[in-house]
Amino acid sequence: MRLAIASGKGGTGKTLLAVNLAWSAPRPVDLLDCDVEEPNCHLFFKGQVVRREPVTKPVPTLVPGRCTACGLCARICQFKAVAFFGKEPLLFADLCHGCGGCSWVCPVNALMERGEEIGEVEVREAPRQRLIQGRLRVGQAQSPPLIRAVKRRADPDRLAVVDGPPGADCSLGAAIADCDLVLLVAEPTNFGMYDLELALSTVHRLGVPCAVIVNRAGRGRLDVRAACARHGVEVLAEIPESEEIARAVARGRIALESVPSLQPIFAKIWSDVLSRTRDGRSERRVLHHADV
Ligand code: SF4
Ligand code: SF4
Repeated sequence: MRLAIASGKGGTGKTLLAVNLAWSAPRPVDLLDCDVEEPNCHLFFKGQVVRREPVTKPVPTLVPGRCTACGLCARICQFKAVAFFGKEPLLFADLCHGCGGCSWVCPVNALMERGEEIGEVEVREAPRQRLIQGRLRVGQAQSPPLIRAVKRRADPDRLAVVDGPPGADCSLGAAIADCDLVLLVAEPTNFGMYDLELALSTVHRLGVPCAVIVNRAGRGRLDVRAACARHGVEVLAEIPESEEIARAVARGRIALESVPSLQPIFAKIWSDVLSRTRDGRSERRVLHHADV
């Protein structure tokens, strides 16, 4: 079961929720830090680094003397990473998403793929948890291939908690696309609700089931439950605004260890999540069977 934690912007308490859910998981868990531009789950993780690997994406490169100037490669590239002005194509590796389309359509095999390093994946291990985090290389703009590399290293027999990137763009899509449930973290303020709506539109478009966790409840006056009800989304839990929690986070501690009153809240979140994903899976199985 894969559970993703996401939010429309940074600083809402996404990592607080992810690391504490991993810490309180009922079974051994992989915590996947997919906030690859600024991974910070490791600040709360006590395990040892056991592995670091570079991650590359395949980018096209021109084989001298083969191009016949047909222009097909520029026409197929949806990301404007190939431009054609005359005798041969110009390739922009920074814009390339590594889909392989241009090499595939080239009728004379004039485009070969080379691996360009975009970052690294680091694995840390502790007795019941593993942290797998991606770190994007400075200057790289394409985080989805690295996010997918982090997710590929998760153990399919374990629970996985995905700490997604902030925002509502293609990085969020890469992080949550194959998850069973997304928990969107929101603050009870007008700005918080605006960001939540952006993230909700992406999540709805991808068709991933979702629910909301309100963080710093009591901070603003906005009724998040009523606002979520208008969008047809359930609020699973509220984490109160608390100086004790803020202090624990600032010191790199697990909030659940320092603030025991949070324990029933996280126990309820896990119980709701597990029952929802069980039901969701059995529903999907029934649908699939009916389709067949
Ligand atoms: S590999 Fe895909 S994204 Fe990259 S240049 Fe070719 S068609 Fe464009
Ligand atoms: S598809 Fe191949 S032959 Fe055609 S322009 Fe691109 S590199 Fe040249």
